[in-house]
Amino acid sequence: MVEIINGKRLAEEVRMSVKGEVEAMAAKGRRRPKLSVILVGDDPASQTYVRNKERACKEVGMESEIIRLPADAKQKELLAQITRLNNDKNVDGVLVQLPIPKGLNEVEAVNAVLAEKDVDGLNPVNMGRLVKGEDPMFVSCTPQGIMEMIKTTGVEIKGKEAVVVGRSNIVGKPVAMLLLHQHATVTICHSRTKDLGEVTRRADILIAAVGSPGIIHGSMVKEGALVIDVGTNRVGEKLVGDVDYESAKNRAAFISPVPGGVGPMTIAMLLRNTLKAAQLHGK
Ligand code: NDP
Repeated sequence: MVEIINGKRLAEEVRMSVKGEVEAMAAKGRRRPKLSVILVGDDPASQTYVRNKERACKEVGMESEIIRLPADAKQKELLAQITRLNNDKNVDGVLVQLPIPKGLNEVEAVNAVLAEKDVDGLNPVNMGRLVKGEDPMFVSCTPQGIMEMIKTTGVEIKGKEAVVVGRSNIVGKPVAMLLLHQHATVTICHSRTKDLGEVTRRADILIAAVGSPGIIHGSMVKEGALVIDVGTNRVGEKLVGDVDYESAKNRAAFISPVPGGVGPMTIAMLLRNTLKAAQLHGK
């Protein structure tokens, strides 16, 4: 029988623990942690994500703000906002909601966020430290959430074959590094991988982060595997993952659902990172 990894419940536990720490800080008279999110343009999905982040902060007693820039904002304005937030002593976490409109330089914007406030873990200092195994200040939220989800299954990572499908900076690469540091044998697949199924069938731990509904069919899953589905794809009114859940659940020993899997954990880890940033700044 497959066991479903309940990201929603796990995220709730993390949120409660963060809330407890925030209230303890406030009780000592310390400033509440604050997250600032820069949203450029009016992409509907980004608007929803940003609203969810704001709501989540509020629920755990953190401060948050959304800085909205128009879709035709200039790179200079965007960088000026980042610099302002970097220098604002009342702001702990800064993130630029991605993607930003074409014509703006995403790499330059993301790199401009101070490493000490980089709650998305995308600054080269944090990513470099992650690659080197040097305990980054911040690891990107989705990979952290995935590792927490794996931990709750009790499955040992050491010595296992782990396959990550997708090589983005925000999910694929960092999660592959985290798995490697825990001594998995890691393979990363991408759009040029020749025979995806042949690779994924070797996976004891399979992470799908592609953005293509149902690309991982059950026939591509090893019997008894642990499957984490990062994909968030809107198909009509429904939200579906990258894993074809119905066929995969007959092969996997553990599987994370969409919705209710990685999504809630990502936000929970953002709260944890913002708390960590506030603790860092309070030192
Ligand atoms: P990206 O588009 O940045 O990366 C997708 C990756 O998938 C790329 O590396 C790409 O390869 C690879 N890919 C594309 N087609 C194939 C294919 N046919 N076979 C194998 N690999 C392929 O996406 P993200 O990493 O940002 O996101 C991935 C998914 O996860 C999306 O659905 C996104 O919405 C979701 N997501 C969910 C989050 C959550 O909180 N639940 C958080 C972040 C993302 P190549 O590099 O060669 O182009």
